[in-house]
Amino acid sequence: MSRLRHYACGSTTHDIGAMFRGEQRVVREFPSGVFLYDSDDGRRVLFDTGYVTGEWHTGWRGAAYRRLLPPRVTDADDIAAQLRADGVDPATVTHVVLSHLHPDHVGGIRRFPGATFVLTEGVLRTLAHPRLRSGVLPGLFPGWFASASRTVIADSMFRVTDVRGVEVRAVDLFDDGSYLVVDLPGHADGHVGALIDGSVLLAGDAAWGADLLDATARLRPLPRAVQHDADDYVRTAALLARLAAVGIRIVCSHDPLVSRELLP
Ligand SMILES: [Zn+2]
Repeated sequence: MSRLRHYACGSTTHDIGAMFRGEQRVVREFPSGVFLYDSDDGRRVLFDTGYVTGEWHTGWRGAAYRRLLPPRVTDADDIAAQLRADGVDPATVTHVVLSHLHPDHVGGIRRFPGATFVLTEGVLRTLAHPRLRSGVLPGLFPGWFASASRTVIADSMFRVTDVRGVEVRAVDLFDDGSYLVVDLPGHADGHVGALIDGSVLLAGDAAWGADLLDATARLRPLPRAVQHDADDYVRTAALLARLAAVGIRIVCSHDPLVSRELLP
């Protein structure tokens, strides 16, 4: 039996009314989700890695980021610590898929030196030229990351794929349909999600929440301005809404989830 488990690795808080036009002014907590997929045949695939714990060592860029999106993170939020507490040796993780490179998604990379990292061409473009506007803090990446084992997904590798009548652009990571890396452009260059066992779509930061897909088109100017491509971001939210309508469970990285197990 395959399994998909969720771990919240730190969180941040935002006022929904300050982010979207037409929403109530309610401060909501946004946990940073990390997702572990265990396949039938022994692969262990992590989707994102959560916030970095401890000191960031990221200088003024890090200070600017933290002022805009103040993180709440303790040592207990570390993904490696949470996996161990759940009976999973972090060294047994075979692959780490990164949706994109923002600090709340890459903090735990340093815990997986033996894994193969699955990275898109767009993510590598960003890594090669990190700018403050792209929200990437080079200080968060361990020195060995540049030479880590990797699978690179080129832009040209995405194939139009039918998911219950909805067309998505996807790469079948293991050629068995269990793990589709799905192109979800807009939030960051090369941003991707993952469709697991044809039923659960890990959507990364394609939207602020599965319940906020409709609100995405009402994003206020500042949160809109920090998207890599705001028009693509709105189109991607509409795609997610169509997938939800045909019964795909959409799980955004910052959704609060009740249950750790995400597959039936
Ligand atoms: Zn992000």
